[in-house]
Amino acid sequence: MNKAEAISSQLITELQSLGLRLEDAESGIGVRRGGAGPSDHKAVTIGGKTIMVPIATAGAINSPFVADHPDTQGGSVIRLNGKNIASIAFPRQPRFYGLQTADGVPYSHIATLHAADVLATTVLQSCIRYSNRKKSCQFCAIGQSLDAGRTILRKTPEQLAEVARAAVELDGVKHMVITTGTPNLTDRGAAILCESALAVKAAVDLPIQGQCEPPDDDVWFKRMKAAGIDSLGMHLEAVTPEVRNRIMPGKAGVPLERYMDAFDAAVSVFGRGEVSTYILAGLGDTVEAILSVSKQLIDKGVYPFVVPFIPITGTPLAHYPSPDPRFMQDILQPLGAMLKQAGLRSADMKAGCAKCGACSALSSYEA
Ligand code: SF4
Repeated sequence: MNKAEAISSQLITELQSLGLRLEDAESGIGVRRGGAGPSDHKAVTIGGKTIMVPIATAGAINSPFVADHPDTQGGSVIRLNGKNIASIAFPRQPRFYGLQTADGVPYSHIATLHAADVLATTVLQSCIRYSNRKKSCQFCAIGQSLDAGRTILRKTPEQLAEVARAAVELDGVKHMVITTGTPNLTDRGAAILCESALAVKAAVDLPIQGQCEPPDDDVWFKRMKAAGIDSLGMHLEAVTPEVRNRIMPGKAGVPLERYMDAFDAAVSVFGRGEVSTYILAGLGDTVEAILSVSKQLIDKGVYPFVVPFIPITGTPLAHYPSPDPRFMQDILQPLGAMLKQAGLRSADMKAGCAKCGACSALSSYEA
């Protein structure tokens, strides 16, 4: 890694852990709250790469990084201790946000633009566990955007196809993430992903990543692939039993062993490097535990997408701190080397969060 790359990896890691303070909170910059992936994030383009940076979190208020009010083109400057350190740009609102379906549903309530070129949707905006906040994943905000009227409960296959086509044609999106709340303890969302992917693929040629818990029957992997899902995410979130039980008491009922078996079965269908998992660093798992599980995953051909935990306003973990940048570097540096050695590259994936890479500095450590 040369010096310039090292600096930018470090800056991305620090920004994602510490957040960015906006000089003018009323600047009209939209912040994504709730929904797929870590939220209360804002897309920021820095050095040609678009990353998600926490802006609306409790921690970001105390960040040493401050952004100037964006100019009319969305351009701005990050300052640290009064010195300008990087030019940034806040991406413009996508054109497809200006459209709505024939029955009046805004396209932005059906799917949203993530980072620079990813269309993302939470096809089912509810989860069997969410009604009991003691049992649900403590970081999750799946019900919040629904309660706030920013999305709809169930996106139909027809709606998804319509929005996907528009997002490709008007905004040039390159791939799509379809995630879902868990509707049952059998297929765990795989069936909904299948019907969604089928409809999208019939409308537009767009690589799709599906995201769900491991279904009860491995036959679903073949069904998802046949429906047009190119890449699959099954998200561990945390890797040690104590942390899993504390942070996601319901989902921890699916043991790590089941995830590991499901990863093997999924890789045999989707291929090496097309199956991934999200791991939230900073919730209690040690550096060693995350690296050890990541090594097992890489050996299976699974990409461990390790991201810093960012608390979401309104969730039980709203005031839980994000991990220290040093902690993230201690994971991402050796993990990047492991990925490189194994020949697993985020850029080679067809679709999904690890390909997008905006929620973690990990891809910058693969080089
Ligand atoms: S990695 Fe990209 S696609 Fe995944 S949640 Fe983050 S911004 Fe969205």
